Parts: sequence; C-alpha cells; structure tokens
Amino acid sequence: MHRLRLVIRGAVQGVGFRPYIYRLAGELKLRGYVTNTAQGVVIDIEQEQQTLDQFLARLPRELPPRAFIQSCEVSHLDPLGHESFEIRISSDGGSKTAYVLPDIATCPDCLQDIFDSTNRRYLYPFTNCTNCGPRYTIIESLPYDRANTTMKKFAMCPRCCEEYEDPRDRRFHAQPNACPDCGPQLELWDDGGSVLARKHDALLATVEAIRAGMVVAFKGLGGFHLIVDARNEQAVANLRKRKRRTSKPLALMYPTLQQVLDDCFADDVEQRSLTSIESPIVLLRKRQDVSRVATAVAPGNPYLGVMLPYTPQHHLLMRKLGFPIVSTSANLAEEPICIDEQEALRRLHGIADLFLVHDRPIKRHVDDSIVRIVAGREQVTRRARGYAPLPVTLAQSLPQSVAVGAHLKNSVAVSVGRDVFISQHIGDLETAEAYRAFENVLADLIRLYETVPEVVACDLHPDYLSTKKAREFKAPVVAVQHHYAHILSCMAENEVAPPVLGISWDGTGLGVDGTIWGGEFLLVDETSYSRVGYLRQFPLAGGDAAVREPRRSALGLLYQAYGEKCFDMQSFASDVFATNELTVLRGMLVNRVNTIPTSSAGRLFDAVASLLGLCHKATYEGEAAMALEFAIAGAQTEDVYPFQIGENDSILILDWQPAIALLLVDRDHGVPTSTVAARFHNTLVEMIVAVAKRSMQPKVALSGGCFQNKYLTERTITRLRAEGFHPYWHQRVPPNDGGIALGQIAGAARAKTGK
Ligand code: ZN
Ligand code: ZN
Ligand code: FE
Repeated sequence: MHRLRLVIRGAVQGVGFRPYIYRLAGELKLRGYVTNTAQGVVIDIEQEQQTLDQFLARLPRELPPRAFIQSCEVSHLDPLGHESFEIRISSDGGSKTAYVLPDIATCPDCLQDIFDSTNRRYLYPFTNCTNCGPRYTIIESLPYDRANTTMKKFAMCPRCCEEYEDPRDRRFHAQPNACPDCGPQLELWDDGGSVLARKHDALLATVEAIRAGMVVAFKGLGGFHLIVDARNEQAVANLRKRKRRTSKPLALMYPTLQQVLDDCFADDVEQRSLTSIESPIVLLRKRQDVSRVATAVAPGNPYLGVMLPYTPQHHLLMRKLGFPIVSTSANLAEEPICIDEQEALRRLHGIADLFLVHDRPIKRHVDDSIVRIVAGREQVTRRARGYAPLPVTLAQSLPQSVAVGAHLKNSVAVSVGRDVFISQHIGDLETAEAYRAFENVLADLIRLYETVPEVVACDLHPDYLSTKKAREFKAPVVAVQHHYAHILSCMAENEVAPPVLGISWDGTGLGVDGTIWGGEFLLVDETSYSRVGYLRQFPLAGGDAAVREPRRSALGLLYQAYGEKCFDMQSFASDVFATNELTVLRGMLVNRVNTIPTSSAGRLFDAVASLLGLCHKATYEGEAAMALEFAIAGAQTEDVYPFQIGENDSILILDWQPAIALLLVDRDHGVPTSTVAARFHNTLVEMIVAVAKRSMQPKVALSGGCFQNKYLTERTITRLRAEGFHPYWHQRVPPNDGGIALGQIAGAARAKTGK
C-alpha cells in the first residue's frame, strides 16, 4: 500500500471538483479523503503504486469543464491505513495566509486563441487567462489585484474590461488580462538598444536571427534567456565562449513533446513532468543515435535538460522555428538572471547579438526549475518557476521565522503559522550581483508575507555572507549546523517524526568541530541530533582551490592512506600535476599548512573521479561527481569493495581505504571504468546500510547534494528497503543547498521550543 497527498490550488472549489475526485476514487478503489482547506483542495489517498499512477494520469485528463488546476504538489508519504474514501468536511487548521501562486504555463484554451487566425488574440504573445499566465513574477504586493502587479501601467481596453468583469468568462478577474490593443508588446533591439522591429515582426526577425546562428537575449517570464539554434555546433560554442561557460550542460527547449521523444527516452512520469503546469526542465536520457543536437550542448553527458514552451511568446517562437533551441539563463556564470532591459543591455553586452524585449516589467527574477525523476518520483533540484513560492506546510505551527540559507545555490525562506514559504533559487553568493539579488529576495519575501521574525536561522559558518546578513536582524539568531539542516529539510517535506537516521552527504559544510563535514551520519532525536558516524577524513591542500580541483582531493586521499609514498605512485604522473605543483602540494600536506581535514562525500567522489581519469579540474560544482555517476553507463554489477568501520569516541568512522586500494588495482588491471564506478557507488551504499543496521533506526533520511546522484539514491533506497528500513528522500525541495533554508527554519524552531 502506498500513499499520496496532493495539494491542489486553482479553480477547484465550487466547480464539482470534489464529487469528481469522489467518483474517480470509487472507480480506482482508492482509500482516503478529499477536503477543502485554506491551502486549497487536499487529496489524501492510498492504494497500490500502479493505481496511484493511474489516478495521477487521469486526474488532469478528466477534469470537470469549469475546473482548472493552477498548482498541484504531489508528495509520497507513509500510509496511514485509511479504510474508505470520503469527502471530509473542511476542517481548517491551516493558516489563512494569502497564497501567491507561481507562474503557470499557457493553458490549452489560450494556446488555441493564439493560433486561431479569427481570434482577436491571434499571434499575441501576452495572452493569458485565469488558468494560466504570469503570477509571482508580476506581483508587487498583496492582495493579488491588477493594481498591485506590474500590469497596472496597461489600461484594459473595453473588450478586455468586459471579459475581466464577466463571471462566465475565462478571463474573469484574470489580473494580467491583455490583448494586442491594450497590452504589452514585443520589440527587437540591437545591442545598442535601437529598435529593429516591433510586434510580430520582431518575433519573425528573431526567428531569422536564430536560424542564422546568432545569440538572442530573450526577455521571457522570469528574466532574460540566451537562445541559440541547438543544432548549430558553432552557435552553441559561440554562446559558451561569450558566457564563459566551458562545459556545464545547457538547457534545451523543444517545440513539441513528439520531438523530445525523438531525441530522448521519457517514461510516463517524465512525460507528465514535462507537460505539467509547472513545465520544468526535465533531465532525460538521450538516445544513442541522436545527432541533431550539437555535442557542445552537454559534452560527455548522457542526459539532456529539456523543457517545452511555457508562455505564448515561447509557443509562437518554437512553432515558427520547428527545431530545438538552447535556452539558458542570461547571466555570467552563477550570477542571477537579468530581468530589466537596460540592465540586460549592459550586462549582456558582447554576449547577445540581439535583444527580444517587451514592456511588461518583471517584478522578480525566477529561473527555470529543474526536475529529475528519482525512484519513480519527481525530484526538484532547482526550485523556481512553477513552484516558488508555494509553501511546505508543516504539522505544527512555528514561531515566525526567517532563514537565510547557506552559501551555494542559495534560497531563503520565511515561515508563517504552519507554512514555510521557500524563495525561488537565487544562486551562489559569490558575486556582488548575487548578493544584491539575495538581499532583494529576502526583503521581498518578508514584505510579501508581512513577516515579523521572532527568530532568524542561518548556517553555522560565521563567514558566509548569508550568516552575516542574519546578524543584521533585530531578532535572535540561531545557527543551524549545515548537515543537520539538510536532514531536517528532508524530514519536514516527508512529514517524518524523529527518531531518524540522517545520511547527509554533500560537498562542504562547517562542522561543530571546525573541520569540513560532508559525509555525515546523524541521529536526529526529539530535540536535537548527534553525529553517529562519518566518512574517514582526509586532508585537502589549498582550501577552496581543492573544491575546483578534484585532483587535489585525490592527492589528499592517497596521502591519508599511504603517507609520503603516495607521491611516488604512478597515479600522479606528469599529466595530472606539473612537478612544481606537486612539490608545493607535498609541502602543504606534509607540514599541514593550508590544509583542512574533511569527511566530505562530495570530495570523495571528486577524488575517485580524478583517480579514474574522469575529471582532474572541475569547471562547475558537481562536475566530477556527475562524471563518475555517468561513467557507470548501464554497467550492472552487485560487486562491492571492502571497507572497514572504526570507532572514535563511540562515533563510527567509515574507512574507504580498503575500497580505494582495490579500486586502484582494478583500474591498473584494465577493468572497465564503468564497472569500477559502479563498484565504488555500491560500496558507498553498503556503508549506509551498515550504519543503518548498527543504528537500529527504522527511518533513514537521505539529504545533501550527493543524493542528486540517481544511481546512488535509487540503489540506497532499494538496499535499505531490502534490509527492512524505511528510506525517505527529497521530492519537492532540493536535496542540495537550495533546500537548506527549510531545514534551518525547522532547526531554529526545535532550538526555540526544545522540540
Ligand atoms: Zn489560459
Ligand atoms: Zn485589450
Ligand atoms: Fe550542503
């Protein structure tokens, strides 16, 4: 028996939605209930997995005529043992906080309007209705009224007014309602801001520019994107060079689902995610024989990040083009996406050839979200468009709090009552631009929800800019250890009560002992947590530089295992380190200067990726770990390398040394890298199983950036289940540091209430 909970918002109240669910539940013999709450309609159902999948597939297809779903968040939870199906009387425990909806992909009716030559909105790129269109990106303040959106500068024409005021019309109270006579319009600019074309001509000229291999900056829903023809190797290479993005994969937009299926494998869950109202980028395995997409799009990567058009502007463009495009955030490296025309002209100078802009202001930047299907469920790894700012609703009311997140992949959160509102993805707080965006989003969220924080939660790291920001508030500050926050985040979204064994594996986070943690086994109890185990530490020479150079992790790992003998090992032939580099690093390691011990699983992945020759220097975070996962390439083996479990002050130390020794033997005897990579992953999984067995905790939560690794996560789930454990992993909230803010809020609440 499995359990699903759906929280649905939209036109689902007073349109026969609950009777519809009741009928569907009867046909599928579901058990559970449906109810109206302040959050929307909640459906809580239990049945076999297959039947629940059928329910998810049929739900949007057979909706009553006037019902429409604007957001639908699905969580897989532990079964409660419901006995029958019922329509429950609204029991309102939740807060009445006004919900700001996320931006919603174009609905089928609006799509029909823009491609019907007799319709007054024919080819109009800003068409929307109550069921679709911009929301979060245009709201300036609550309540959600046109006067409080960036649409206030457009006065509706009489025909739009009529629709807006007619309760029978699909555009009744559609706040961004607009038409070609009264609404926003497109313009195509050169890189000096001179107008080259207007309205539909601007779109047609854009199509020609993309066909000709140019880089176009495209002002869309939540910011500017850079667009090129995805088939054009030269154009993609050009974009990479100008954006200074060497090899990190670029996202694609396809004109149709059919074209996606021509190039990629997508099962039912993946297709549902692609075509959902959230319309995220979905990571799909590409077909071997695909030659249409330029190799520069995702070099050496068996996956493509794919999305479908989600605004009329995109639909019009993609229908004219008829082939996939690269559509990537318009920024340099990890800076936040541009939202304003003048800013775009300045920041994208020399990057974009042309600018397709419009005059509907974007209130706040919202990137495309990223989803990967893990163990048959959606896992959001970047939570932004389509999801932000929907709340995660907790079981109990919390003190009003603010969480500032960590340092990388930052997002922030505020809590009101039982709801935790998580901001859109902000990015790495590495540049002044990113820090400004962080401050803006934080202030914006606090203002939007009128939060008066009683407590401010931050990371334990005193030097993070986010931590420093937390200290600017007047409220008391609670520093929550990074890996503890990861586990609390996973527990919160899965509604799991302690005690829980948390596996918190990521690249980096400051531990309470001043070392770098990242391969942690934490026991979370009713009030706090304890560190029950960690991966054996090894020294990293050169601090932050080690993060960008997996070869330094490899050297540190070997030094820990073999001492100075490691410098003679052929692993470090001249192709990995130059002689003088090796001399410097040797000095650091031997004299323990500028080295820091770490138990990071992320760095262990880095080390092995380098030892296997897959990646010595990374150009983006997680590159080496991804290379190691992809190296498995379908290799199927149950083999495991040996490892040892030691103890230090009754804390378990998971020693990888025996595994590394055999891994090197395998490598040097020409065992295929795919097999070696699979054996290494399997070994890590068995370490988790071994600690779970010793801890005797039935519930195991998996969090941290390492669990974006599909092989690692799925195998851990399978093995834990086989041994009788109950694993939990991330679904709606990212396992990476994008999910930290939620855990910080939960951690601060526990510190404050002693729970
Ligand atoms: Zn619509
Ligand atoms: Zn109008
Ligand atoms: Fe982390």
